[in-house]
Amino acid sequence: MLRQLQQEGIKAEDIQTIIITHGHLDHIGGLSRRGNPVFSNAEHLITAEEWNYWSERPETMESRTLAPLKDHITFVQSGCHICPGISVNHTPGHTEGHLTVSIESQGTRLLAASDPVTLSHPASYIAAELDLEKGMETRQSFLQQAYTQSVQIFACHYPFPGLGGVKKSEGQWSWVTLDN
Ligand SMILES: [Zn+2]
Repeated sequence: MLRQLQQEGIKAEDIQTIIITHGHLDHIGGLSRRGNPVFSNAEHLITAEEWNYWSERPETMESRTLAPLKDHITFVQSGCHICPGISVNHTPGHTEGHLTVSIESQGTRLLAASDPVTLSHPASYIAAELDLEKGMETRQSFLQQAYTQSVQIFACHYPFPGLGGVKKSEGQWSWVTLDN
């Protein structure tokens, strides 16, 4: 990611705000290196639930990656507006303090789903989820909201660039890439 930023002419120290959707290593792995924050001037936003969960598990790689950020952390709550057009929502289940991010610009809204969108089996459980029941509930309501409001979705683990929307037919969700 640093290389991609560099190609855009952006240095790590230029980054001012980072939203940590949740503490899984594939989402935070690049935030610290050798005990120091990589984005040294950035305020790192996270829910208290997520921070506390990993702080109580110091033996985990997640905790060891997050710990160096402790002086750069700001807790956020559901509904918090980060800046005009960008807000976060608490979407627990995948992890206790999981956040989804809503980005609005020029009349278009994008929901950055992070991990809860898994359309192949939306009604089933995801093994990695901390609270399976809550995870399923969150996923269904997230998909329903995205569908009803016709918003675009960014799903991190979908094929690049992971942008699309959802469709529902006969109770089954399906993914529609942005080009369709
Ligand atoms: Zn995850």
